[in-house]
This record gives sequence, structure tokens and C-alpha cells, in this order.
Amino acid sequence: MVLVTGGAGYIGSHTTVELINAGYEVVIVDNFSNSDASSLEGIYGITGVKPTFIEANCCDREAMRRVFEAYDFASVIHFAAFKAVGESVEQPLKYYQNNMLSLLNILELMGEYGRQNIVFSSSATVYGDAEELPVTERTPRKPATSPYGNTKQMAEDILRDTVAANSSLRGIALRYFNPIGAHPTALIGELPRGVPNNLVPYITQTAAGVRECLSIFGDDYDTPDGSCLRDFIDIVDLARAHVVAIGRMVEDKNKERYEIFNVGTGRPVSVFELVNGFERSNNLKLNYRVAPRRAGDVMAVWADTTLANEELGWKAERELEDTLRSAWAWERHVRNI
Ligand code: UDP
Repeated sequence: MVLVTGGAGYIGSHTTVELINAGYEVVIVDNFSNSDASSLEGIYGITGVKPTFIEANCCDREAMRRVFEAYDFASVIHFAAFKAVGESVEQPLKYYQNNMLSLLNILELMGEYGRQNIVFSSSATVYGDAEELPVTERTPRKPATSPYGNTKQMAEDILRDTVAANSSLRGIALRYFNPIGAHPTALIGELPRGVPNNLVPYITQTAAGVRECLSIFGDDYDTPDGSCLRDFIDIVDLARAHVVAIGRMVEDKNKERYEIFNVGTGRPVSVFELVNGFERSNNLKLNYRVAPRRAGDVMAVWADTTLANEELGWKAERELEDTLRSAWAWERHVRNI
């Protein structure tokens, strides 16, 4: 049995589906702060299984204690967190309180109740503007440029230290690159609230006519076509990495009790390439224009995935065009078009 915090969210819902497909029983805790119950219906539609659901905030220690009392999971995947970079700059305490307190509660309760394994959602944001590309897990982290990014770095350190101090605990931090796309059934996907910050939701909303025009932030970077380079990883591939990480710890196959893995494709794709790929794979034209660079963006980041490939035996499989088709299919499903 696996506790999935934030299981109604974008990555959490896809991971829940893959866990169920792999035969795990799942308990979801979510407070719908950036998600809604429709994703639980989607999970049921895809798998035919209704995971146990508890509406609770992970910062509420007593509510979480009741979850630990009631369910006998050995493993936790902790997704629940705030993730808007810009908002974190405006409201740092909201981010520090939520993202740190939830992790501390879970780690404390895991110790108290003797639960062994945790997968933590980290991010390629910890690499910042890296000096070497692609980045490996040994590439030095750069000082975070936002409170959001800092919560990811701090959480990695808290996990490392807690695992070091508790010999029955194992942890894996997965550093996500840029997750995109949706489940092939189009029954679950990303549900951004308000104006999307991320590229693919902005693209699909523009294609749907919800946004007038996509801005491409910068065409004057020192890259082949002048736009930024990212490692866009399919959401189902990313979800599968969690199942493998859990299995590794459950079967006691981890080499160290605390491990870090990059979860990306290993392939840099430019913003222009992504936009053109979206148009091509969905056979449509997107309204876009070049705009000034966005503050805080790094020019390029992509993963060296050797460690995940060799140690986890996991690799990204879905073709980018299929991923981009799934993103559009999901947007059409949401908009009824
Ligand atoms: N981007 C863009 N227009 C948008 C949103 C994003 O050109 O409306 C670019 C952004 O500058 C970056 C890339 O797309 O180079 C990925 O941005 P996103 O916010 O999706 O993820 P990030 O890499 O910042 O975590």
C-alpha cells in the first residue's frame, strides 16, 4: 500500500494510475488546493479502481496522524506542494510554511509509525543555470532563485539528513525536468487555475481559443534557434518512474538509503521546436509571437539520464509527438471541443 499526497493533482493522478496498474493499493490525501475531484473520477475511469481518498491538508498534523493510524502503507509518495514560482516570490512564507511543514509532518509520522520508504518530488530547478550540460545528479546545485526552488533544495536536504539519522528509512528524490502531456485516454491531465505559467498548458489553451496568443519568451538566447532549451518529459513516463522507485525500495534494491535520480528524456528541445511539434502533430496552426525573455528563466537545461536508465532500469519511452497529441486531446476533453 502506498500513501500518495497530492494524488488528485497533475503528477499525482497519473502516478496513482500507474501504481494501480502495477498492483499497488493507493491511499490519496489531497486538499484540492490546486486540483479537484474530477481527477479521482478519471483515475476510476481508467483503472476501474477507486483509490481510498482522504481530504486533508498535509500541514494538519492531527489529520495526518489519523491517516497513519488508519492505513498500513509502507511507502509514501509526497507530491503535495505549492509550485508557482512567481507566487512564491510574492508570498514566500506561504511557500515555506506549506512545502516545509507538510514534509516535516510526513517524515515525523513515518518515523513514529515505522513506515519505510518515501519518494519526494524534486525538480531540475535545483540545478539553476548549470555550468555543465546535460546535468547529472552530481552537477552542483545552484542557489535557488525563488522561494519555490528553495523549498525543493531544502526538502532534499531534510530528507537526506532524516534518512541518515533513521536506519529503517529509505528515500528517493526524483528531479523532474519539464513534465507535459496527459494520459492517452484523456481522462486525466493538467488543470491549471487561471492563466497558465507553463508552456504546454498555454499552448493548448491558445489552440482552444481561451488565450489569444502564445508569447515565446526570448529568441535571442545563445542556442541553435535562439529560444530556450528544455527536457520535456511525458507525464506517463514520469509517473512510471515513481512506480519503479517505490519497487526499488520495497524490494530493498536501493544502493544507498537516500538516492537522487534525474527524470527526463536526456534530449534538449527548444521552445520553437515544441511549438512547431505541437502544430505538426495536431495538424493545426498556433497564434504565437516572440516576446522579451522572462525574468528568472535559464537558457538551457536537460538531463543526463544514465543513472535512472542503469540503476532504476527506467527510461522515457513515449514519442514527443504522441505526448503533444495527448496534451491537445486533454484540452479538448476539458473544453468539450
Ligand atoms: N515559455 C514561453 N511562453 C510561455 C511559457 C513558457 O515561451 O507562455 C518558455 C519559457 O520561457 C521556458 C520554457 O517555455 O523557456 C518552459 O517554461 P515552463 O514555465 O513551462 O517551465 P520551466 O522550464 O520554466 O520550469
